[in-house]
Amino acid sequence: MNSYETGPIRPPSEAGSYLIRLTRGCPWNKCKFCRTYRKLAFEIRDTAEVVADIDAMARIRDEIKSGNPVIDEYGWMVENALSRGGTTAFLQDGDSLAMKPDAVRHILAHLQERLPEITRITSYARSRTMASRSVADLASYRELGLTRIHIGMESGHDPLLQVIKKGATSDIHIRGGKRVIEAGIELSEYIMPGLGGREFTKGHALDSARVLNEIGPDFIRLRTICLGPTIPLWEEFSSGKLTRLTDIEIVKEIRIFIEALNVDGSKLASDHVLNLLGELDGKLPNDKERLLAIVDTFLSLPKEERELFQVARRAGILEKLSDLDHQKVQVHARKLLDEIYRHYGKDGVEEATQEMMKRFI
Ligand code: SF4
Repeated sequence: MNSYETGPIRPPSEAGSYLIRLTRGCPWNKCKFCRTYRKLAFEIRDTAEVVADIDAMARIRDEIKSGNPVIDEYGWMVENALSRGGTTAFLQDGDSLAMKPDAVRHILAHLQERLPEITRITSYARSRTMASRSVADLASYRELGLTRIHIGMESGHDPLLQVIKKGATSDIHIRGGKRVIEAGIELSEYIMPGLGGREFTKGHALDSARVLNEIGPDFIRLRTICLGPTIPLWEEFSSGKLTRLTDIEIVKEIRIFIEALNVDGSKLASDHVLNLLGELDGKLPNDKERLLAIVDTFLSLPKEERELFQVARRAGILEKLSDLDHQKVQVHARKLLDEIYRHYGKDGVEEATQEMMKRFI
């Protein structure tokens, strides 16, 4: 049968990938900012089932390539992957490599056999899981085509990691990350600006940089926290234990973080809609000054211009500071800002933009 199973999410960079589900949910499932798999009991899928999924995708690919469009939910994902080259795959769900190494190898080998045009295979993984695998196991995955691992590090600050119940310490993050790199697999680490509020902002920025400096990942990706009553971490903020950072304070936190980064060759990316400054994109250390200059340009904008950008970004009508130079964007942003001033008052932009962000959680 030409059907297969997929999980709920993948990183933005895998929007055009085949989705291969090895596991359901997350074996940890306790991080206080995450509710992606909250209602899902963790399961490792049967290897034969995953193999059958890959076979189904290969058959659908053949049908599409021979000119017979497959117009159902299963055809869509393969069609989408093919329209973007059909050369990338993402292993799901939250910690897919928790599967036994032999089973992972079997699946990767089958993927190579049935979809040999795939040249990039990536997966989410927990630092703890990576720290529990041998370099030899991870290197064998690399041999079988696994090219990149995405780890949600979130922070390198131990007191904050405890508060958010990450289930990992900075030491585990370092061990897990280093193991991936030693195995020759590209590593993408995610950091969450704003995660610890005002109480942890400095420690969060500095320790996250410290841990990343030790690991030296290929990618450092920013993904700003989005707070709201639907995530368990909200309790810390609504009870007053933590104080929410404003957009400006988060940008200041990012400045401290970038300044403390001392990595060689890592690419910093701000490729998520929750990040205020989408143009923070560069290779370190060469682009460090340029990245800091972007932050400083934003921080030195007059209040109203800064708010114009904030509102426009949260409304999804621009990405970069320079986008405000476009007349159409400028007019649209002005209208939105005037509306916010009317409803929330001249000091209500932060409150309004926080409301606007909630649609992303
Ligand atoms: S490890 Fe990842 S998927 Fe699991 S609960 Fe934490 S953030 Fe969510």
